[in-house]
Amino acid sequence: MKTIEHFVVGKSFSGDSKRTGKVFNPATGEQSAEVKLASTKDVNLAIESAKKAFEPWANTPPLQRARVMFKFKELIEKNSDELTKIIVSEHGKVYEDAKGSLTRGLEVVEYACGIPQMLKGEFTENVGTNVDSWSIRQPLGVCAGITPFNFPAMVPMWMFPMAIACGNTFVLKPSEKDPSCSMRLAELLKDAGLPDGVFNVVNGDKEAVDALINNKDVAAISFVGSTPIAKYIYENCAKNEKRVQALGGAKNHCVVMPDCDLDQAVNGLMGAAYGSAGERCMAQSVAVAVGGIGDKLVNSLAKKVEALKVGPGMDKQSEMGPLVTKDHLAKVKSYVDIGVKEGAKLIVDGRNFKLQGYENGYYIGGCLFDHVKKDMRIYKEEIFGPVLSVIRAKNFNEALQLVNDHEFGNGVSIFTRDGDSGRTFSNKAQIGMIGINIPIPVPMAFHSFGGWKRSLFGDQHMHGPEGVRFYTKLKTITSRWPSGLRSDPEFVMPTMK
Ligand code: NAD
Repeated sequence: MKTIEHFVVGKSFSGDSKRTGKVFNPATGEQSAEVKLASTKDVNLAIESAKKAFEPWANTPPLQRARVMFKFKELIEKNSDELTKIIVSEHGKVYEDAKGSLTRGLEVVEYACGIPQMLKGEFTENVGTNVDSWSIRQPLGVCAGITPFNFPAMVPMWMFPMAIACGNTFVLKPSEKDPSCSMRLAELLKDAGLPDGVFNVVNGDKEAVDALINNKDVAAISFVGSTPIAKYIYENCAKNEKRVQALGGAKNHCVVMPDCDLDQAVNGLMGAAYGSAGERCMAQSVAVAVGGIGDKLVNSLAKKVEALKVGPGMDKQSEMGPLVTKDHLAKVKSYVDIGVKEGAKLIVDGRNFKLQGYENGYYIGGCLFDHVKKDMRIYKEEIFGPVLSVIRAKNFNEALQLVNDHEFGNGVSIFTRDGDSGRTFSNKAQIGMIGINIPIPVPMAFHSFGGWKRSLFGDQHMHGPEGVRFYTKLKTITSRWPSGLRSDPEFVMPTMK
């Protein structure tokens, strides 16, 4: 059985922990590897290495740091098939979807290649007579990333390319469910010329996470995962005086207006609700049918959900792969049971889906609920599976109210042909990322990604300009070079003269 270790100071590191976790191939249900679960001591050692590597890396000119990113970009492109297959083999999503997610990560690397421009700073000549002032952004030190299972390449790449390009060193703790992709990315960074110790990977669970939070040499933590853990990370980083951004769960709505192009809305919803088996933080799990469009919407959706091609991620015919683990499959099924008990109408039931030859894989067919009510658990809680709930709203205002009353605020979209509805919606929705006739409005790398309300704890979104702000601290220097003129002591607040 293959053992996945850690990656510290540019090489594989086994650590002294005896604890391991199991990694499965979700398509077959077979165990593919065991992964080491780091002890506090193992994590501290990785942090120590990152700390040693910090000063020389921070002093490396941004242009040289960018050149490593350019080389890394090339290597990801060259190895994209291998990386994609790694994602499919441990996560389960279909090949083309996995490749797309790798590309979205690659785009952050491309953005990070422009770091010399982004770190240029600001200068004002003569803030006072013969006094100049300038602001620069300097790296923080050792930064850490803690990432979820659903995007084993993209989410880590939201973080470390920006952190490293800004001059920080990094310790990544990927999800223990699909850790191999991070290990391969670490090797590629080394091949790209990144000095040893600048990027490290520790595999593990809560013990590793707590070790990162409690170590005073970690300056900042970026987290992406479920809301309860995001809140835990946020609170404990604050207690330990660390900078933190903690992105949490979601329940994204798609508001379907009666004037929309229904085919476009249905196709958009199919991809957004069932793509990646609903295991996306930007998945749409609620369709809000406005006015009289509900029956037509549900009928069109039902036909397509029944026809969904579910199968292994490596099968080119598959539109939706399995769920990530057996436990997660049981959890998603139990939510469908709850929905039925709560009185929602189950229009398409995927619970008994079976695939010949893959009987032990973690498959479920697409599920569709109608007449979901806002006090039901299937509406309030994140299911993170291929389960779409249709809820009816009388009019635009009622739909907007539903969106704004929900505890999560990651993404939302509206399908309409009316510019006024689209514009008012984007202005009033209390949500971080909004799509108008776009089902999954994930911002590009040069914008920033993040939700509102209980979908993000902290101030800064990820990557893009917000990434530069998060991974640097601002310093402002004010200087005067007196020539012959000597000033007397001043005891009052200096003002501009
Ligand atoms: P998770 O919260 O279970 O795990 C995320 C990370 O936290 C993992 O690295 C895990 O090892 C660690 N962790 C788990 N339990 C912990 C504990 N008790 N103490 C300390 N650390 C712990 O999330 P997941 O199941 O891997 O991922 C799915 C979740 O991530 C969903 O809720 C999804 O919405 C969310 N997500 C959010 C975004 C976003 O941008 N907002 C993006 C992707 C995923």
